[in-house]
Amino acid sequence: MRRIDSWVGGVPAVSGSGRTAPVYDPATGRVQAEVALSSADEVARAVTVAAEAATQWRSSSLSTRAAVLFGFRDLLASRVDEVAALVTSEHGKVPDDAAGEVARGLENVEFACGIPHLLKGGFSEQVSTGVDVHSVRQPLGVVAGITPFNFPAMVPLWMLANAIACGNSFILKPSEKDPSASLLLARLLTESGLPDGVCNVVQGDKVAVDALLDHPDVAAVSFVGSTPVARSVYTRGTAAGKRVQALGGAKNHMVVLPDAPVDLAADAAVSAAYGSAGERCMAVSVVVAVGEVAEPLIAAIAGRLSKLHIGPGTDPDAEMGPLITAGHRDQVAAYVAGAEAEGATVVVDGRRHELAGGTDGGFFLGASLLDGVRPGMRVYDEEIFGPVLSVVRAATYDEAVALVNGNPYGNGTAIFTRDGGVARRFQFDVVCGMVGVNVPIPVPVATYSFGGWKDSLFGDAHMYGPAGIDFYTRTKVVTTRWPDPSTSAVDLGFPRTR
Ligand code: NAD
Repeated sequence: MRRIDSWVGGVPAVSGSGRTAPVYDPATGRVQAEVALSSADEVARAVTVAAEAATQWRSSSLSTRAAVLFGFRDLLASRVDEVAALVTSEHGKVPDDAAGEVARGLENVEFACGIPHLLKGGFSEQVSTGVDVHSVRQPLGVVAGITPFNFPAMVPLWMLANAIACGNSFILKPSEKDPSASLLLARLLTESGLPDGVCNVVQGDKVAVDALLDHPDVAAVSFVGSTPVARSVYTRGTAAGKRVQALGGAKNHMVVLPDAPVDLAADAAVSAAYGSAGERCMAVSVVVAVGEVAEPLIAAIAGRLSKLHIGPGTDPDAEMGPLITAGHRDQVAAYVAGAEAEGATVVVDGRRHELAGGTDGGFFLGASLLDGVRPGMRVYDEEIFGPVLSVVRAATYDEAVALVNGNPYGNGTAIFTRDGGVARRFQFDVVCGMVGVNVPIPVPVATYSFGGWKDSLFGDAHMYGPAGIDFYTRTKVVTTRWPDPSTSAVDLGFPRTR
């Protein structure tokens, strides 16, 4: 069996923990490799290596760091297909979708290439007579990233590009379900001239995560994953005195007003709900159909689902691949069964798809569309993270906004309308971190930052972009004067500026 290990100090690090986890090919259901799960001692060794590298790396010039990042950017851009192929092989998403995730990750590297500009501090001359003040941003030291299975290339790039550019050493703990893309990213960074030990990958599960959260030399932790784990990572990490940003799950509502073009809204809903088999934190999982748009919209979505081509990444026509594991596929199917039992209407039943149930062993499930969904049903209240779209009918705009705002999650939301005034009001009204106007998956570009509100994010720091530079640095303020020594005198009063 092929074995996947860690990457520490610029070389592979073979784990002796004796614990492993299977890595599946979700399109066939077969185990293709086993990933070695690091022990707490192995994580501690990686922290030691990263800490040693951090002292050198923080002294490197900004132009040196920018040169490494520009090199990494070019290398990664030339090998997008290779990274994407690893993503398809272990995650199951189709090649075009996988390449899209790498492209969005690349944006973060391009942002970080501007680090000489991004790290500029402030300077105030003459704050008091003969006294100047300036501020600098300094790295934190060793920082860690813990990432989910659904974006095995993009989410690590959200974190590591800025973390390294700011002069930190980085330790990535990727999902054990698809661990290979992160190793390739680390190798490419080494090939780009990044000193050994500045970017490390420790494979593992909760044992490795807890070891990072408890280690006194890890200064900050970035986490992306499900809400229960995000909450516990935030609590444990901050209790250990660390800076923590923990992004959690989602239940993204797409509000469709009666004036929205039905075909445009249906195209957007299908793309955003079923792309990557619904395993995206910004996937649309609820359509709120306002007024008379409901009937034509549901018909238009259902019509599109019958044409969706579901299949493995090796099928060039496939638009949607399998789910990550058999267990997850079964859980998603159980939500559809439960919705029916709770009184929702199953308009399209993905459990009936020819590949569902896995005659060839792949973790496939067809696309499901549910109508008549209401708060209080499990299918509405819980994050499903699969190819299931729920339609909730609302009589008015106000009712639709109340649904968005009453939901415990607040990652993304969207409104579809031709009325600019209502769209503007929606942006103002909704209690949610990211908003799309006729854009169903409003993932901000890398020059902005990403973050939900409410149970979609624990901590107050959004991820990547300017917020990433803030998160991975701390500010030092220096007050300076060069007085004439002959004017010196003892003065026990508190220093005044006037
Ligand atoms: P997950 O929470 O199960 O795992 C995320 C990471 O935490 C993995 O590296 C995993 O090994 C580790 N982990 C799992 N259980 C743990 C535990 N008990 N203690 C410590 N560490 C643990 O999430 P997942 O299933 O890999 O990813 C899907 C989830 O991530 C969904 O809920 C999705 O909405 C969310 N997500 C959120 C965003 C966002 O930006 N808000 C982005 C992508 C995914």
